Amino acid sequence: MIEKAEAIVLKTLNHGDTSKIITLYSKEVGRLKLIAKGVRSPKSKAAGLFQPTRHLQVIYYSKANSELQLFKSGELVNGFFGLEEDFDRLTLAQVIVELIDRSIEDKESHPLLFQLLADSLARLSTPDTSAAEVYWFFHLHLLRELGFRPHVGHCSVCNEPLSTGGSLGVTSSHLECVKCHQPRQDSIFVSQAVLSAIQSILSNSWDKVDKPELNARDRRSFWNFLWRFTFYHIEPTRRMRSLKVLQQLYS
Ligand SMILES: [Zn+2]
Repeated sequence: MIEKAEAIVLKTLNHGDTSKIITLYSKEVGRLKLIAKGVRSPKSKAAGLFQPTRHLQVIYYSKANSELQLFKSGELVNGFFGLEEDFDRLTLAQVIVELIDRSIEDKESHPLLFQLLADSLARLSTPDTSAAEVYWFFHLHLLRELGFRPHVGHCSVCNEPLSTGGSLGVTSSHLECVKCHQPRQDSIFVSQAVLSAIQSILSNSWDKVDKPELNARDRRSFWNFLWRFTFYHIEPTRRMRSLKVLQQLYS
């Protein structure tokens, strides 16, 4: 059967002498794996399509119960070429597609998540946006869509409001207040400013989020909190390759 999908390239793998296996995240069927035969030959019209982060419209032959479908043709919806001019933005875009790849279940359509992904890549490729804020918005809304919304309002032990900040507990999934938290070497403290930035990002659409005013220490703890929390809930993210580059940029 011939199918059509709108999808973003997550990763590619060379196969044989001239083919590629492409993993995409599609609006219609979630994760989609295609084999594109002959696309590495210089004569192929599809040669330039399959860079990770590219937004495509693809046509493919679908076989029921097969994990790998056969690519027929495709065209570019958005190349997000602005990313290529800025190393930080390109790195964040690579983290975004790898994070999606490691978080989503196979064959589960989630149009809202697809839109979040496409919108976030578009914002990142626009030079006048703040790259870290675009990224934080993407990451927090991804967690929310996957059912892992961080609760930043109250202490998970005594339920008092976290009015002076909070620390991640032993399990790294709940925040604890200063009185309840038993400090350890690897404790991560997040200030009230970071908690309210998280709250504001999670409760608003992109246009309505207030730009968080965070100092360097707060920004660092924001990054640390995000990843510690995500590693706990989505185990495969611990082995993300793009994280190493990200850590050099933001720690
Ligand atoms: Zn408490």
